[in-house]
Amino acid sequence: MSFPALVEPADALTVDEVRRYSRHLIIPDVGMTGQKRLKNAKVLVIGAGGLGSPALMYLAAAGVGTLGIVEFDEVDESNLQRQIIHGQSDVGRPKAVSAQESVAEVNPLVNVVVHAERLDNDNVYEIFEGYDLIVDGTDNFATRYLVNDAAYFLGIPYVWGSIYRFDGQASLFAPKQVEGAPCYRCLYPEPPPPGMVPSCAEGGVLGVLCASIGSIQVNEAIKALTGIGDPLVGKLMIYDALEMEYRKLKVRKDPNCALCGENPTVTELIDYEYFCGAVSDEAADAAADATISVATLEGMLKEREEGTRDFVLIDVREPNEYEINQIPGSVLIPKGEFLNGNALAQLPSVDSGTQVVLHCKSGVRSAECLAVIKGAGYDDAIHVGGGVVAWVNQIDPSQPAY
Ligand SMILES: [Zn+2]
Repeated sequence: MSFPALVEPADALTVDEVRRYSRHLIIPDVGMTGQKRLKNAKVLVIGAGGLGSPALMYLAAAGVGTLGIVEFDEVDESNLQRQIIHGQSDVGRPKAVSAQESVAEVNPLVNVVVHAERLDNDNVYEIFEGYDLIVDGTDNFATRYLVNDAAYFLGIPYVWGSIYRFDGQASLFAPKQVEGAPCYRCLYPEPPPPGMVPSCAEGGVLGVLCASIGSIQVNEAIKALTGIGDPLVGKLMIYDALEMEYRKLKVRKDPNCALCGENPTVTELIDYEYFCGAVSDEAADAAADATISVATLEGMLKEREEGTRDFVLIDVREPNEYEINQIPGSVLIPKGEFLNGNALAQLPSVDSGTQVVLHCKSGVRSAECLAVIKGAGYDDAIHVGGGVVAWVNQIDPSQPAY
């Protein structure tokens, strides 16, 4: 799969630049033309954290002319184990400023543009506009899907990376540049259920893993900007630091992709926090010891049929979702009814002995409703982890997914 250079060469390099970049210039594949392309390049790095730190420093050192930094956070002592763009004296300072200063120290010829704000639906287009390439160093799913969708709508390719403990992944998504190339949603159509994939803050990350994956991202960025080599388009790089193993998997464009497929359902930016199911603390507490699997639910439904078990299964999704697919034997009471209190009148009374079992699409909304009814005295209420998605995947694939 060939990839055209994303950037036209600058007119000339100065004498200083020739001296600075001489080890690039003598590589035939890069040469003067490649270095002039880097000089003209505008790259946006999202996050000056684990991946952003090595990415920013190597992009700067490589001579990328303009580097944007999106970062709203401040440097914390626990960042220093891996976020090498920041130092001890930066603790408590804005990461964007600290990163800007480090970049200036690595290469004062780089023009740094600081976007000291949290990326969201309202500012993403304004921030992305004008960049040739994006390097995504975010650590949460809501932002990843936002980056993917906004980059797709603007036609900007982006290098994605993710890290967890000893495992890393990376790919280059360029569906508008390369015909038949997938997007992030082709690879991961749905975010994992909340709580399934802990963040680095919860699960930890080997510090040097950031450099391993961040440098792969920069490697792919330089190749794409200059049009050399075989890009990581349509391929997923998987790195296992414990086994010291790199594997490359093919990723195909999904004709049913919600974004880049034949009949897209995502045609504008969506509510990413909702899509990725950021659960409240109350919901997480309520669900902690009260989550069952769809396999357990299947067994319970059989027992209910045989008359050896009594419970009511309530689907808290919206009616339009209920039309698409259902868990047999469920009744619909949308989440809003729980939040406004009306649902309680429709439930069996607390002392009836009938257990209340809740479910939704993926287990986020049902956890929220669970918190509400536990607060109302339904101590033995439970909800179904993974919701209808898990039911369709694991129990009844004949039903449509959405
Ligand atoms: Zn796609």
